[in-house]
Amino acid sequence: QRLPLDGSEEPSQRTVRGACFSRVRPQPVANPRFVAVSGPALALLGLDAETVMRDPRGPEYLSGSRILPGSEPAAHCYCGHQFGNFAGQLGDGAACYLGEVQAPARPPPGELATSPCGRWEIQLKGAGLTPYSRQADGRKVLRSSIREFLCSEAMFHLGIPTAPGSSSPRTPVLRDVFYSGEPRSERSTVVLRIAPSFIRFGSFEIFKPEDELTGRQGPSVGRNDIRIQLLDYIIDTFYPEIQQAHAQDRVERNSAFFREVTLRTARLVAQWQCVGFCHGVLNTDNMSILGLTVDYGPFGFMDRFDPDYVCNASDSGGRYSYSAQPEVCRWNLGKLAEALAPELPPERAQAVLEEFGPEFNLHYLSIMRRKLGLLRKELPEDKQLITLLLETMHSTGADFSNTFRALSRVSIPSCATESGDSEESEGVLQQCASLGELRAAHRPGMDPRELSMILTLAQSNPRLFQFLSSKKGVSKELERIEKLSELQEVTEAELRERHCTLWTEWLHKYRARLAQEAEGVSDIEALEAERVKVMNSTNPWFILRNYIAQNAIEAAESGDYSEVNRVLKVLESPYSEQAGLHRPGSVHQADSSEEESSA
Ligand code: AMP
Ligand code: MG
Ligand code: MG
Repeated sequence: QRLPLDGSEEPSQRTVRGACFSRVRPQPVANPRFVAVSGPALALLGLDAETVMRDPRGPEYLSGSRILPGSEPAAHCYCGHQFGNFAGQLGDGAACYLGEVQAPARPPPGELATSPCGRWEIQLKGAGLTPYSRQADGRKVLRSSIREFLCSEAMFHLGIPTAPGSSSPRTPVLRDVFYSGEPRSERSTVVLRIAPSFIRFGSFEIFKPEDELTGRQGPSVGRNDIRIQLLDYIIDTFYPEIQQAHAQDRVERNSAFFREVTLRTARLVAQWQCVGFCHGVLNTDNMSILGLTVDYGPFGFMDRFDPDYVCNASDSGGRYSYSAQPEVCRWNLGKLAEALAPELPPERAQAVLEEFGPEFNLHYLSIMRRKLGLLRKELPEDKQLITLLLETMHSTGADFSNTFRALSRVSIPSCATESGDSEESEGVLQQCASLGELRAAHRPGMDPRELSMILTLAQSNPRLFQFLSSKKGVSKELERIEKLSELQEVTEAELRERHCTLWTEWLHKYRARLAQEAEGVSDIEALEAERVKVMNSTNPWFILRNYIAQNAIEAAESGDYSEVNRVLKVLESPYSEQAGLHRPGSVHQADSSEEESSA
């Protein structure tokens, strides 16, 4: 659909047949200003953040209020399976493709990643109506934009994904804008994000003939030529080595392509599992054809480890729970395979899909070994040690990230001097429920279940318990929990004892495994140093917890963007314990010295 360039006509929301893109115009906003800018991400485009921010046209160009020279904005038509059912046409309802930018010849200093195809696709999110907006307005609120912006930066700096030749989508710019939508002026936010491509599994599902279950069909049904063009474009542009290797044989080429997407997706979800990341909406329209994490909605990084963790409030069945993610990704790949048939013969797809599980396990185990600092040997029992660790975390309510981070403090037995098993388990417990974290997590008005979880965790640590008991507002909740314990006939001491026993048992096994690691090694100290280094660069010190994002959002909603920018800065180095810097979100920063001494 071609629209007048002055934006006077709005695109009508409709089914778009026989096309996979529609030309649109981003709807201008009034008085745009920046909320936050990721310098490293802008540098990938060859742009300097300071120059962009100083230029009065900066916010206008980057919010879509002014069209960049050469840009031909468009909205992409895709379909998808949402929560297991074919949903028909979805498409870029709030997103707008601006075009592509040639990446600078050399990546900026310190940047490991650049686009594998040498250019970046530029997208605005929240820039207004498109034919795919359905009942919504194509705008985004500050809250969802901040979450997307921060999480995409978080993932990038965590190194997810690290599949060779691919790089994470980035959201370099976050802008707070006022736009005049009729009938009244409202506040809205635009995110500018980049990726080598935002093409999804669902991009191939627009060609789907009638769905057995829902009776729906893709809008481009019958246009086999477009489907083949899209497939050729993707393979040619993003998988050139596959195109070259199988230039003469399309079936082989398509199978190799599907295999690569499958393996990348398996490795990506293994990485999610290893940082406790839950995507929340793993519909096929949110699955990248390049194996990238895309579309951050109700995502969550886990605090307390829970295999059944669900971060999406509307996912009542737990379809997208933490432990379901690998199987769901495999299921989604099955839907992609269906959309690629007959160019991809179903029996070839089936054979490829069988590689998903082994690839996931291989990758998951290899990251987990690094997280545990098991570098020299791969033993079959390692799998059990990991399962047992997760079970112990689950039954004691331990924090996922803090627990892994704490494990580097357990030393290889012959390297340790006096610290015995029980002292060590006490140390780990303390770290799992680090005081700073508890304090930060305790916000007035927080979810009572969350608070009682924190307090249960604190019960395993007498000093924490004592500290929290003295806090106003917490004492009432403590009373309630004490009553609950009485009901369950579990005393505080028994609970503490139970948790300590579990940890002592696991730590005993872990230390025995570490001793095996050291067998035949003459320089144990060097091994220990290497182990700690690897662990601390695999187990993040800082992750984007929900309350951290929430605090930044609340400040931003009242006009203060400093917390968003502070969190952004910390997210740039998630593995380093940043001296003098508190994990953002701490609600008691003033008495930080007390924190050190009581910890
Ligand atoms: P999501 O759940 O964010 O992946 O989005 C599912 C579908 O809803 C996609 O087609 C989106 O483009 C569309 N959508 C999400 N938010 C909006 C919005 N604010 N306005 C119009 N469409 C939207
Ligand atoms: Mg989406
Ligand atoms: Mg969304």
